[in-house]
Amino acid sequence: MHPLAYEHLKKVLISGLVGPDESCDYYPCHFRGQDCTWCFCPFYPCKDQQTGGEWLKRKDGTSVWNCTHCYWIHRFEVASVLLEIIRGRGIKRVEDLERVRVSIFHELKDSYPPVKGQ
Ligand code: SF4
Repeated sequence: MHPLAYEHLKKVLISGLVGPDESCDYYPCHFRGQDCTWCFCPFYPCKDQQTGGEWLKRKDGTSVWNCTHCYWIHRFEVASVLLEIIRGRGIKRVEDLERVRVSIFHELKDSYPPVKGQ
């Protein structure tokens, strides 16, 4: 995991939801009013196109997962339910979140199925 992602997720696990962060130079990177709690998504790269994410080809032929069109995790209700799931499982450390992130991803998808473009 990228060190910036680690530090951001560590802060979220301690302090909770961020809400819209209008002080960020990149706000809004998805849509106005977005929740910025999962700016560094714990599921990256989820590789699930139902979220709106997609594979992009680089010039050298390799692929990179692009989250630009994922609105799912940035909706307030989805962001807050994700935090509830994490807290409900007693997760307090980024390392513990990483270990169970796939099962949490599926649990969250079952509760709030992503709808492309929303
Ligand atoms: S597409 Fe959405 S859910 Fe998937 S890794 Fe990116 S931000 Fe996370």
